[in-house]
Amino acid sequence: MAAKVDLKFSTDWKEAKAYLKALTDKQREEHYFCPDFVSLKKIPPWKDGEAKGAPDKEKESHYKPDKALNEKLSLFRGDITKLEVDAIVNAANSSLMGGGGVDGCIHRAAGPLLKEECRTLHHCETGKAKITGGYRLPAKYVIHTVGPIAQGNPSPAQVQELRNCYLNSLQLVLDNSLRSVAFPCISTGVFGYPSEAAAEVVLSTLREWLEEHRDKVDRLVICVFLEKDEKIYRKRLPYFFPMA
Ligand code: ADP
Repeated sequence: MAAKVDLKFSTDWKEAKAYLKALTDKQREEHYFCPDFVSLKKIPPWKDGEAKGAPDKEKESHYKPDKALNEKLSLFRGDITKLEVDAIVNAANSSLMGGGGVDGCIHRAAGPLLKEECRTLHHCETGKAKITGGYRLPAKYVIHTVGPIAQGNPSPAQVQELRNCYLNSLQLVLDNSLRSVAFPCISTGVFGYPSEAAAEVVLSTLREWLEEHRDKVDRLVICVFLEKDEKIYRKRLPYFFPMA
């Protein structure tokens, strides 16, 4: 086995990435930036009964109840950087060199090697996605995607761009044989995409993708940070992922 690399002091992202890749899951733990990480086992799958308040029954769902499919989805409220999943998605800006919001949190938690690897990716277009190592994060990989800047009502092109963020991130999940991924609420912070409208795009995209690829993944986690977003998702989940 290669010589031990101290992730706190390493300046060589390639060496650190290769080193981490060769470790077992248990061995990786000692490199996590936080001791209070959340393993996938601790993130329960979606259950209709968890919906707070009256479920949204105004419109009958046109999606079929599918218990096995519902078990592939979770809603989690908290800090995405603490999640021990195969990949977390970063709502990045096109430079991929870090920024505010969730992007800043991910870069701070992963440590400076993340930026060094991002530097080699140069740039990312809106709706596209690129993958890097996770370094000191409990997540093995970070998928960086750039959401549309939609101050106010999103245009049809912006709706498609937001959808593409999720689809292109999921394509990287498949390409890299990853089994679990967590998404933040892309574009709904500084980029100004309205949260309710974004949730419709996210839930329809994840539902349709899971119908096609359910056997390829164990779990897709929607990681909300704000109470407002948790309420929106709890209200709309029974429509997109109804129970029998
Ligand atoms: P964007 O520029 O794409 O709008 P932001 O980072 O400003 O990205 O916001 C995207 C979402 O990420 C918002 O819902 C915000 O509340 C959420 N967020 C911020 N920090 C975290 C975090 N540590 N973990 C999960 N979500 C976060």
